[in-house]
Amino acid sequence: MIDLYTPVEQLPRVGPAVSQKLHRLGCKTLIDLVLHLPFRYEDKTRITPLRDALVGQPALYEGQIQSVLPKRHPKQPIRVMMSAQGAIAELVFFKLFPNQLSGLKVGRWIRCFGTVLPSSKGLKIAHPEFVTFDECPGPDLDETLTPVYPTTAGISQARIRALVQQSVHWAKPALLEEASEETLPISLMSCFEALCYIHFPKPDAPIDLESHEHHPAVKRLVFEEHAAYQFAMRKARQQMQQCHARPFETKEKIESAFVNRLSFTLTQAQNTVWSEIKQDLAKATPMMRLVQGDVGSGKTVLAGLAAFSVIQSGGQAAIMAPTELLANQLATQFKKWFEPFEIPVALLTGSIKGKARKQISEGLESGNIPVAVGTHALFQNPIRFQNLGLMVVDEQHRFGVEQRLALYQKGQGTHQLVMSATPIPRSLAMTMWADLDISIVSERPPGRQPIQTIAVPTSRKEDVIERLDAAIEREEQAFWVCTLVNENETLPQEAAVKAFESLTQRLPHRRVGCVHGQMPSAEKEKTLAAFRAGEIEVLVSTTVIEVGIDIPKATLMVIENPERLGLAQLHQLRGRVGRGQKSSFCVLLYDTPLSLLAKKRIEILRSSDDGFELAEEDLKLRGPGEVLGRRQTGARQFKIADIYRDRALIGDIQSLTDYLQTHQPKVVESWASRWHAGEIVLTQV
Ligand code: ADP
Ligand code: MG
Repeated sequence: MIDLYTPVEQLPRVGPAVSQKLHRLGCKTLIDLVLHLPFRYEDKTRITPLRDALVGQPALYEGQIQSVLPKRHPKQPIRVMMSAQGAIAELVFFKLFPNQLSGLKVGRWIRCFGTVLPSSKGLKIAHPEFVTFDECPGPDLDETLTPVYPTTAGISQARIRALVQQSVHWAKPALLEEASEETLPISLMSCFEALCYIHFPKPDAPIDLESHEHHPAVKRLVFEEHAAYQFAMRKARQQMQQCHARPFETKEKIESAFVNRLSFTLTQAQNTVWSEIKQDLAKATPMMRLVQGDVGSGKTVLAGLAAFSVIQSGGQAAIMAPTELLANQLATQFKKWFEPFEIPVALLTGSIKGKARKQISEGLESGNIPVAVGTHALFQNPIRFQNLGLMVVDEQHRFGVEQRLALYQKGQGTHQLVMSATPIPRSLAMTMWADLDISIVSERPPGRQPIQTIAVPTSRKEDVIERLDAAIEREEQAFWVCTLVNENETLPQEAAVKAFESLTQRLPHRRVGCVHGQMPSAEKEKTLAAFRAGEIEVLVSTTVIEVGIDIPKATLMVIENPERLGLAQLHQLRGRVGRGQKSSFCVLLYDTPLSLLAKKRIEILRSSDDGFELAEEDLKLRGPGEVLGRRQTGARQFKIADIYRDRALIGDIQSLTDYLQTHQPKVVESWASRWHAGEIVLTQV
């Protein structure tokens, strides 16, 4: 008996070797194969006459072989001339198996699928798929479009296609049975029907998988997948709310002791978010709160306050940052805040080893160390806490899936505060993190000068260097950031080292430093400390400094080749300046000529300093596939859903989820398990 969750290795004609490869593709059970969706289609349902061939468009052609020119040199291709109705095309093959080659004889017929390339010498098709015939073949063509699937080494396209299509047949009874229980409040195609469309598409009903205007079959699956995740996130949240957490009341006296020692007063926005955090901490269920706030909005102090409150009531706090650089900076900051209260702060990163590490881990286990700041090393075995009351994750979008999963598992019953500077429009954020409460630090501290952004072509680099020199003269500091210049030729660290050398040479009277990702972290930290102390005036770096680095005296940010970066990253980088009282500049030193997209992006960046607004703009500017920081947001790759592309549907999807949860919980649970929504939700935190 085959059911939806039969492991692939138990399916007929699937051996252990293939199963292993299928696992690599994410297909562990029958339903995974059924939901292994094609990413495009080929039309082999009709033959295109050669004389109507369109350059660049894949099509099926048929003709007779005129000549076969074998390889004369290992590096040369085999050339086959094919003719049909007076038109001629050259087929070029670099590699053929002997049985394929033996079919290619003058006078035989060939049917081939490929793309005509632009060529001065007539039509040319590079390595098409083909079959040959002794005589003019009959009209036995495919009746459906041919789906093309993601696959992996060792599983051919034909094999994965056959396997997926067979799987749809195997799954049919189970899917039809599930469908019989379904009554939906909106009209949607049934799941089985939708899958048939997608895996066996009719030639006259082409399905565009990327389009905003969903084909009804795509729409069905898009709704299902979104609803599955919404449901799973809500369930995760309900489960968390059933966990017990130790409540921490924040006494007025304690709060003001901390706040009064700060060198600034909290903004209205910080106060609002802090009171939300405070209320969460006082509850006997774990806090699950995401604090979103633009770069420089002052999120760190909120983590400080929360940690302080928990520690004063006898709990421990752990603060996790995505890089060692940032962990170091956070630790320094926390030490400064906590020293007056004689609260020891431990720093725990991957480069702290041996005895020092052992000491810290013992201190955390015994409870002698109340605060630990670190990288994900904090949550690696065998670190244990005596009484972990609060977990803070800074820049959460930068953490990998496994790290977040490990964290979540350690954190049952612990208050969790997650911080992110990724500017995601609020509506999207609520969809993406339906399992979290969301607070927004909606304003920046007062007195900040807006950052002026200017774009300058590399031909005027000299002017920029003079400007930089003048800034240092005024006792300000500058960043000089090098991006990936050319993916093949120059590594970012090489570009940074080169820029460092040329600036050192050009400004011999200035102190220039350099950091990049390839340096040992102790050295990185030393350079950064020197920059912070003002001993270095210009810091040349790669984008390692993108996240969170806080140096108020820096007023100038020069970014070389900004066209290589997305808006989110540029905005983050720019946010490294403008943190003090002096006016700041961001200079985008671009290579000409700029692409239209790069030009627009730079324009938008110049016109706005608001991360959320930038996110909206980027959304409009780019196609759905490559929207702002999609990778950076940590949004998982859905199979067919896309939070950005489908955002107009989110309201409907949420109502559908509401309806199902109340009236048809079994149905939505089966959706959640078929899309593996439960597993993924955990990784979202
Ligand atoms: P982010 O939200 O990007 O993490 P940080 O917490 O690093 O921002 O804060 C940026 C800078 O603003 C820090 O130097 C911090 O000391 C300062 N800061 C935070 N809150 C205030 C405030 N209310 N008034 C003035 N400066 C503040
Ligand atoms: Mg920060």
